[in-house]
Amino acid sequence: MSGGSGGGGGVRVAVLGGGVAGAAAAGAILLHARAHARSLHVKLFRGRLERSSSLAPAILGPECRSRLASLGIDLRTTRRRVQDVRVVEVVSERRTEVLPLPAGGLWVVDAWTAGASGQELLSDAAAQAAFLNGAEISIARPDRVERPGAGQARPAGGRLLVRVDGRAERFDAAVLATGAGDPWRDRFFPGFRGAPTVPAAHARLRFRTLAPLGAPAIRLILSPQPGVDGLYLVPCGITVYALAFGPGAGTAELCQAVMAAARDGHLADGFEIAAAGATALPSGAGARLTAPGQVAVGPVALGHPLQIGLSQTLAGCTRAATALLEHLEDGPALDRRYVRDGLREMVREANEGARAVPWLVRSGRRAAGAFARAVRAGNILSSFSSGVLGLPGPSPGALLEAARWSGIVSALERLLRPALEPLPPSAPVVEPDLYYVVDDDGAARDALAQFLESQGAQVVTFSSELALFAAVARRPPTAILLDVVLQWVDGLRLCEGLKRHPLTRGCRVFVMSGLDLPHVRERALRAGAEAFFPKPIEPQLLLQILAAHRALRADPPGAGAALNHVG
Ligand SMILES: Cc1cc2nc3c(=O)[nH]c(=O)nc-3n(C[C@H](O)[C@H](O)[C@H](O)COP(=O)(O)OP(=O)(O)OC[C@H]3O[C@@H](n4cnc5c(N)ncnc54)[C@H](O)[C@@H]3O)c2cc1C
Repeated sequence: MSGGSGGGGGVRVAVLGGGVAGAAAAGAILLHARAHARSLHVKLFRGRLERSSSLAPAILGPECRSRLASLGIDLRTTRRRVQDVRVVEVVSERRTEVLPLPAGGLWVVDAWTAGASGQELLSDAAAQAAFLNGAEISIARPDRVERPGAGQARPAGGRLLVRVDGRAERFDAAVLATGAGDPWRDRFFPGFRGAPTVPAAHARLRFRTLAPLGAPAIRLILSPQPGVDGLYLVPCGITVYALAFGPGAGTAELCQAVMAAARDGHLADGFEIAAAGATALPSGAGARLTAPGQVAVGPVALGHPLQIGLSQTLAGCTRAATALLEHLEDGPALDRRYVRDGLREMVREANEGARAVPWLVRSGRRAAGAFARAVRAGNILSSFSSGVLGLPGPSPGALLEAARWSGIVSALERLLRPALEPLPPSAPVVEPDLYYVVDDDGAARDALAQFLESQGAQVVTFSSELALFAAVARRPPTAILLDVVLQWVDGLRLCEGLKRHPLTRGCRVFVMSGLDLPHVRERALRAGAEAFFPKPIEPQLLLQILAAHRALRADPPGAGAALNHVG
C-alpha cells in the first residue's frame, strides 16, 4: 500500500512501527486532526512484512471491538473470526480457576493456517483504515530519530530527522510503536526509556483434531516449569498459539511446558510444532516516554505479561494522538497530558501486573486461587482497567494484592509440606518389558528397537520428543532410552523434566549420545539418568546395564541367551 493524501501542508508526523499500535496511532492522529480541522500529514513506516515473525492471534473483548470501530477499523476486512472463546481459565499445579467472560464474549481472530496471524490481519486492517483517512504508508524501516539544531527556527519539513538506511526525512513529530523487545533507547531521543521486557518464546502447535483444547478455551498455566512464569494456550482452529514467558523462557523451555500441558490434559496429544521463535513481552511501564514532539505507544511503552488483549494499546494510541496534537512542541505539557494524565492508570496497572507475576510464581498451587479472589474482590475503581488475559477484570492491582497473600501463605506451607509431591493414587503402573526409544535418527532408532525386541521387549519408538511426557504419564514404560540431540528439547533437559513430575519421576531413563564426553555423561547423571550410553550402543553393555538397573528382567521371554552371556 502506498499513497494516501501525499505531502500536504501543515504538521508532518512519522509513525514508526508496522503492528496494530502503529497503525492505530496513525489513524487516531488523523481522526483527531480532522475533528479539529487541522492540516496534517502522517507517514506510517510499517517496515517490510516479516510474515514468520508474527505468530500471535488477536484476542478481542467487547471494549476492544468498540475501540477498533471508533478508529474506523473494520473487522470484516480480517475475513476470519476464528472462534468465540467459551472458557478462560488459570491453572496452577492441579488447581484450575475459571474466570468470568465479559458480556459480549471474547473473540480470537486468526487465519494463520492460511498465512496470516490475527495480529497481522488486524494490523493490516488498521493500516487500511489509516490509509483511507489519508496516511501515507511506507515499507521502510527507520533506525533512528534525531533532533539536530534544537532552538533554531523550524526548518522546512520539520525539526526531527527520521533516518532510514542512511537517508533522512524531516518531520515535526514522531510516534514510536515498534513493539516490545527492540531497545531503541537513545536512538529515539536522548534519555528515552521504554518498557522493561521479559523474555518469551512462542509457537504454533498444529493438531490433527479440530478443537485441540476441547471447548475453545484460553488457558494460562502458571509456573509450568523452572524459569517459565506462565504458558498461554490460545485456541485458533486446528492450531494452538502457545506463548511462554519468564526469565528462562526460550524455545526449548516453551516446548517442555507444552509437553507438560499435554501430559496434564490441558492440550490434546499428537501435535507438531509448525513454527516457533523468541519474542519479548513488556513487563511494566517505561521510565521516560516523551520528548518535545515525540511519544512512545503500545508495548514499547508499557504493558505486563498477564495482559494479552488489545484494549490497553488502543486506548494508549488515542491518548497519545490527543496529547501530541495539543502540545506538539511543549515537552513538559505533552508529558503531563500523555503520561501523567492520559496513561496514569495504565502505568500503575502495568507496574502492578508486572509485580504480580513473581508473587504468583511464589504462590505455587495457590496461584490460580489468587485470580479467583481478585475477581471476587471486584475492586475495579477506575474507569479504565487493563484487566488480565484479554478480560476487563480482575484489575492487576486486585491481582497483586491477592497474589501477595497467596505467596506468603504458600511460603509458610512449604515449610510444613514434604518437598516431593506424592504419586497420585490413580497413577498407572509400570508396564513390564515396555521400552521407549526416543531418537530422531531413524536408523539408530530402528536398530535399537529391533535389538530390544529380539530380547523379548515391547518397544515404542518416538521420532519426535513432543509426545514423550504424555506417553510416559499414561503408559509408564520399564525404561526410556533417550538420545541427547533431538529437534526441540535436548535429552538432558527432558530427563530433568521427567524426573521432576510425580507421574514420570519413577521411570528409569538411560541417556545415550554420540558425544561421549565426560561433561555430557556427568550432566546426564546429574539430570537423574540411571546410566549413560555412548553411541553407537554396544549391545552387551546395554543388556548388562539394563539388567543391573533391573530395567530388563533377569529372565525376559526370549532373553535367556543374551542375559546368560552378560551373566
Ligand atoms: C501474548 C501477548 C501479550 C500481549 N501483551 C500486551 C500487553 O502487555 N499490553 C498490550 O497493550 N497489549 C498486549 N498484547 C496485545 C498486542 O500484542 C499488542 O498490544 C499490540 O498489538 C502490539 O503492539 P505493537 O503494534 O506496538 O507491537 P508489535 O505487534 O510487536 O508490532 C511492532 C511492529 O513494528 C515493526 N517494527 C519494528 N521496528 C520497526 C522499525 N524500525 N520501523 C518500522 N517498523 C518496525 C515490527 O516489525 C512489527 O511489525 C499482547 C498480545 C499477546 C498475544
